[in-house]
Amino acid sequence: MSTKSNQNNKLDILRHSASHILAAAVLEMFPEAKFGIGPTIEGGFYYDFDLPRTLIPEDLPLLEEKMRAIIKQNFSFERQEIEAKKTQKLFDKAGQPYKVELIRKLSKQETSKQVASKNKKAEKLVTKHLPLVTIYKTGGFVDLCRGPHLDSTGEIKTDAFKLLKIAGAYWRGSEKNKMLQRVYGTAFETKKELDEYFKKLEEAEKRDHRKLGKELDLFSSHDEVGAGIFLWHPKASVIRTVIEDFWRIEHSRRGYQYVFTPHIGKLELWKISGHWNFYRENMYTPMITPEGEYMIKPMNCPFHILIYKTKPRSYKDLPIRYGELGTVYRFERAGTLHGLLRVRSFTQDDAHIFCRQDQLLDEIIGVLDLALFMLNSFGFKEYKIELSTRDPKEKKKYMGDDKVWDKAEKALANALETKKLKYKIMPGEAKFYGPAIDIKLIDALGRGWQGPTIQLDFNLAKNFDVNYIDQKGKPQQAIILHRTVLGCMERFLGCLIEHYAGAFPVWLAPEQVWILSIGSRHEEYAFKVAEKLKSENIRVAVKNENETIGKKIREGELQKIPYLLVVGDKEIAADSVAVRERGKGDLGPMKVDKFIEKILNEIKNKN
Ligand SMILES: [Zn+2]
Ligand SMILES: [Zn+2]
Repeated sequence: MSTKSNQNNKLDILRHSASHILAAAVLEMFPEAKFGIGPTIEGGFYYDFDLPRTLIPEDLPLLEEKMRAIIKQNFSFERQEIEAKKTQKLFDKAGQPYKVELIRKLSKQETSKQVASKNKKAEKLVTKHLPLVTIYKTGGFVDLCRGPHLDSTGEIKTDAFKLLKIAGAYWRGSEKNKMLQRVYGTAFETKKELDEYFKKLEEAEKRDHRKLGKELDLFSSHDEVGAGIFLWHPKASVIRTVIEDFWRIEHSRRGYQYVFTPHIGKLELWKISGHWNFYRENMYTPMITPEGEYMIKPMNCPFHILIYKTKPRSYKDLPIRYGELGTVYRFERAGTLHGLLRVRSFTQDDAHIFCRQDQLLDEIIGVLDLALFMLNSFGFKEYKIELSTRDPKEKKKYMGDDKVWDKAEKALANALETKKLKYKIMPGEAKFYGPAIDIKLIDALGRGWQGPTIQLDFNLAKNFDVNYIDQKGKPQQAIILHRTVLGCMERFLGCLIEHYAGAFPVWLAPEQVWILSIGSRHEEYAFKVAEKLKSENIRVAVKNENETIGKKIREGELQKIPYLLVVGDKEIAADSVAVRERGKGDLGPMKVDKFIEKILNEIKNKN
């Protein structure tokens, strides 16, 4: 059964049809199998089964063989519309309790739709015979499904699909339900595309930031600390410091001021902000003290607002931009945690802009400029931009009046158009408190990563009564913009690791240069060169272990060090170093000063 109705493109239809074929193959292997659901997902499909025994990896090729046989028989996907009651009986008789449950749920939805459209004659005519449900028959396998599918199983090439893995999955995602067995697979139109897909997966695996994080000694997490909370090791901390320094310089240039705010605040604060009502499930529980309850912060905004409110602000004072690399804590569900990409403690490159309505467009353009400049500097040249707006049919769901929303949405769209940026409007995706621009960066493998956001907020400005005095001496509500240009440090590091496969550009590399001494009599010279580089703020280490030069070079390559400088008798005599550049190999001898000039240039230009 398909859970995606709006994404019925060709590949989705092919993959979803393959999931039916998988189910038919499972039915052949286990006639008593009970079936859950089998939707398509990013990169493939799955199907959930309740089986008499646990599947083992060796079952997958057997199932694939059965699937090939079903494909070869070229069964058609026969569609039928039947009354829900009848279908329910049919599945009940076939011993398919999960399908029966789904039909019950479906007919409930249909009945409530009927009630909702009671007064509309036309709709009543259409829904008169409901609840009807669609089933699809493929050979001996019948499934509850709204389709669409291919015409017949033969349209799938026998060499262009693959079963990938087996995993456990609770029925309907709830821990209260039975654990089913989920079989993942994928299918493409041709074998060539399937092969390319696996090549890309392999490349992605090599770049996995969790794997590289260990190999390059960047970060760790510990059961004793808790899931989703990471410790930054010295090398990752160097990268972070470089990023933060760059971030501060670029923000200062653009008129941001820095603030530091605490990690905890009284529960009352989070009641005023609305977080306690609307965001509680993502917050850690209160800390109880003799002086009341305190919360660890999930966001920095209320603190920045309180700083703004410490004195009256005139229209001339605006815009005011407060920036903070602020560490926040959110209780994300255990199942959603994923390496550095989804964590429970993270540092946002946060800022809040307080401005007037007539300044809004310029402020948004300013943030867009900054965000794209930053991403470009880190080597991301492609983006996907989304504009999250109100659902025009459900204006009541959103706070703030109509005119303000219109203006705000227009300002965001205008800014994107002024910058000639392509974007996709996402109606209904706005949060209740304001519309937003979300930018996804595209990495070296073409994958999208959540990056900068620009979020307008009418809610906090109102709850905290954030004002300025206008030209006529009257208080006006200020507009608040929340924004990040990198997202958060943890996710951004994960993204950088995978984008560069751990081979950071020189300006970011935690160790930029290793000096490798050939023998013990070259050590003194190696340290002398190192001192010279250090005095130019180049990050350098001397490798003087009693190992062969070949082994030292290999180790340097494994650690993805941008420059390896070999020093021996010849180099000492010529006051030079033998330079090996990562990815380019041996560049030959170079005077030490010449090398310093070269690397400083690269650091400055962020090559
Ligand atoms: Zn289907
Ligand atoms: Zn904020």
